[in-house]
Amino acid sequence: PLRALHTSWATYSSDITPVFTRALAFGDKVAIVDQNGTHTYRDLLGRSLRLSQEICRVLECSSRDLKEERISFLCPNDASYVVAQWASWMSGAIAVPLYRKHPVPELEYVIQDSQSALVIATQEFLGKITPSAKKLGVPVLQLAQSGGDGATSPAALQEGPLSNCSSWKDRGAMIIYTSGTTGRPKGVLSTHENVQAVTTGLVEKWEWKQEDVILHVLPLHHVHGVVNKLLCPLWVGATCIMFPEFNAQMVWQKLLSSEAPRVSVFMAVPTIYAKLMEYYDEHFTQPQVQDFIRAFCKENIRLMVSGSAALPVPVLEKWESITGHTLLERYGMTEIGMALSNPLHGVRVPGSVGTPLPGVEVCIASEILKNGARSYRIHAQGDENGTQVTPGLEGQEGELLVRGPSVFREYWNRPKETMEAFTPDGWFRTGDTAAYQDGVYWIKGRTSVDIIKNGGFKISALEVERHLLAHPHITDVAVIGPRDMVWGQRVSAVVQLRKGEMLSVKELKDWARDTMAPYSIPTELIVVEEIPRNQMGKVNKKELLQR
Ligand code: AMP
Repeated sequence: PLRALHTSWATYSSDITPVFTRALAFGDKVAIVDQNGTHTYRDLLGRSLRLSQEICRVLECSSRDLKEERISFLCPNDASYVVAQWASWMSGAIAVPLYRKHPVPELEYVIQDSQSALVIATQEFLGKITPSAKKLGVPVLQLAQSGGDGATSPAALQEGPLSNCSSWKDRGAMIIYTSGTTGRPKGVLSTHENVQAVTTGLVEKWEWKQEDVILHVLPLHHVHGVVNKLLCPLWVGATCIMFPEFNAQMVWQKLLSSEAPRVSVFMAVPTIYAKLMEYYDEHFTQPQVQDFIRAFCKENIRLMVSGSAALPVPVLEKWESITGHTLLERYGMTEIGMALSNPLHGVRVPGSVGTPLPGVEVCIASEILKNGARSYRIHAQGDENGTQVTPGLEGQEGELLVRGPSVFREYWNRPKETMEAFTPDGWFRTGDTAAYQDGVYWIKGRTSVDIIKNGGFKISALEVERHLLAHPHITDVAVIGPRDMVWGQRVSAVVQLRKGEMLSVKELKDWARDTMAPYSIPTELIVVEEIPRNQMGKVNKKELLQR
């Protein structure tokens, strides 16, 4: 009966359908392994359905149903995250994942900015989130972290709030908050079509299959953790092992374990690979152990991917010598999902991000003035079938533009920013500088120095400056992101202090802990007499970085 239901749900829309509708076909297969045990696809569906009924009860769904209500949720990295996400979708709502390490003001900002109608939290986070939700007048629903007997009745599923739903295509699926060069973080609203386009593109290109087992160690408020590492395996009926967070020792143990389910796929940001190699250098010094690691990884793991920040070639080379795997580097962004990837089979070019994923159109262009109006000169344009280069412009740097079904619908409640993010021809402007050369794309860096990528997290230098200026000792500040072998870029603050005051990194960290996300707190302080500014009052950060 579950299979039959799958077919009926799938017919709600021609071919766009949220991942949970596919789960019906995978029944008793293990979907998630976490600290609470194993969870089959049937368990997840049962728990999600019950939660969606609760959601409807609290929100009085009959009147609100399917109006793209936003539901914020705060869960650990385990099966409860999937349940909260699926239940939101079953209720016709938009899922807004919160990050458990964000300080309370940040969480409040997201709940408020997304105008969430409800907050869902597991027991351990109720204390953290309930006072904020109360303050904002938003009801809180507790989600049990485990339990659910999997007894999902097909009839109950069919009669669920979904019964009115005629199309998933343009319906909002999730809002992920991302930092830009101006203002507070913006909510990137992706539709079910966007999410499915990214998921199926990766499933096809990286040949995801039901037998795959992925080890998940990334945060789940970011496209890498949500789509690449969670929705892809769930789309094909594979198994996802979820760790509460990254821990080098635990990751090595799991990667090298022959106990079922044995890991076949691993994905991470460059910083995690660097940390794993640090651990390796410290703990695996014996040649026999090193030989074992190489042979084991080669035999059991089929794919290791790096993304979310530039992968330094020395990291790629060292990882290759340790595990025998050439990391597959890919490029993506919250607003566009994944766009470019090195091949699964065939040559992966170190330092490059390969070619467009299925369904993605990319273009490298520079802005020019034509008859007094702003226009674009195209250097190269391509899709999965090939790239056309304007003669003489091969290798020329320009801005990377992206188009296609994976590109987000809007910045939530920000029509002006949404409009400005696209060219008149509908290309999304990534703000990344890129070049096309020797048959592949190369990312050369961010166009703006005010975006810092630290351990795969995107940080707005201006946001950090805004926070630091509230410190009683700081009178002026410029935040920059010098290159760093482990973190990609580190967050460095050049500060001018009040006369006679001193400030250490430790003091700054203690002060910032309750108001700033841990990854955005500077790890380097450079005290100067005066921040160098030009006549317009602007800091030349490129110059500061070269000092
Ligand atoms: P986010 O929206 O947090 O995923 O950040 C997206 C940004 O990360 C992109 O605009 C790039 O600046 C950067 N990024 C992602 N993947 C890569 C990569 N493989 N190489 C260089 N930069 C990358």
